[in-house]
Amino acid sequence: MSDEQSYLPDWAPKDGGDAFAVRVKKGIETHSFVKKTPASTPKKRSELTVDEYVNGVLKNDKTVLARAITLVESNAPEHYEKAREVLKRLLPHSGKSLRVGITGVPGGGKSMLIETLGCQLIDQGHKIAVLTVDPSSTITKGSILGDKTRMEKLSRLQGCFIRPSPSGGTLGGVTRKTRETILICEAAGYDVVLIETIGVGQSEIAVRSMVDFFLLVMIAGAGDELQGIKKGVMELADALMVNKADGRNKAHALRAKNEYAMALKYLAPATKGWETKAYTCSALTGEGIREIWENIKTFERITKQTGVFKERRQRQSIDWVFSMIEDYLKENFYSNPSVQKELPIIKEKLLKGDLLPTTAAENLLKAYYLSEK
Ligand code: GDP
Repeated sequence: MSDEQSYLPDWAPKDGGDAFAVRVKKGIETHSFVKKTPASTPKKRSELTVDEYVNGVLKNDKTVLARAITLVESNAPEHYEKAREVLKRLLPHSGKSLRVGITGVPGGGKSMLIETLGCQLIDQGHKIAVLTVDPSSTITKGSILGDKTRMEKLSRLQGCFIRPSPSGGTLGGVTRKTRETILICEAAGYDVVLIETIGVGQSEIAVRSMVDFFLLVMIAGAGDELQGIKKGVMELADALMVNKADGRNKAHALRAKNEYAMALKYLAPATKGWETKAYTCSALTGEGIREIWENIKTFERITKQTGVFKERRQRQSIDWVFSMIEDYLKENFYSNPSVQKELPIIKEKLLKGDLLPTTAAENLLKAYYLSEK
């Protein structure tokens, strides 16, 4: 869609791009001789009530859905109460999706894989929500995942909703918002939630903590170092896909898959009672993509039978509470005026070797507690 035909509304994420579900079409200009009725004058966007948010989400009105997510993403204190209320009302309708995390290096083919898999699933009658957790947006305020036009075909399908990563704030903040966005999408009836992240930092641990199944996308030929795939990341995965197994690259991909399969034998499984295996696929040709979904469905069936699925979800809710408390305390600590005043002085002393790290920490904590009293 060209800029002349459409625009991003002010409540949409800046780097939403064409794949963003809430791009708004411009209306048709009326000529001056056409008498404007109140209905034809553009209405100022009004605040929605809690009821309007809740009903709109439950009806899967994509505009209201996007606005509800924007509301819970907002850091403005005046939105806080309303966001809480909307979430509280939506909570009983959530939890019924299959939550799948997808990680891997940029360029590994994650978005193409999501596009191919997503289109197949929509064909089968599923409704797909695609969310991203992009740690780069918390550091540079830009975004690796959101910069390019992604999942064009998928984004045009009615059964799909794509939401880019909330920008700014800490990874903890992004994680909280993504968790709440999952709940909202589930209430809107999306039965598969795909959460994409880049496998180069802490974000894959954050995503692992909010999904049922975790998929690691790799490519052949790039060394493990380059792929940022340390043992730790492989240990988080429930399946490992060597993508781009097509054309001349197919043989390399098969070899890489065998090597990863060997390595996996020495690792503890990410999920109790489930063996993490390596596969090859091609997001380009679609080969092996149906099998990914079969693998995920088998995983769901087995872990639901053994109770591991439910146990993990329960553990995740508890972890969520603790991580929110930790985030709150950290944020509160570093934004405290006394801490902000003391911090550069203490850093300076540390650099000069005039202060022990233990004493530095004690002094900062003291400054914090005294000002909080
Ligand atoms: P992401 O950064 O992990 O999301 O990767 P993309 O999905 O954007 O893919 C990066 C590049 O690899 C793009 O040019 C894709 O066209 C290409 N690509 C993705 N999947 C495949 C595949 O299965 N086979 C081949 N040959 N190319 C692929």
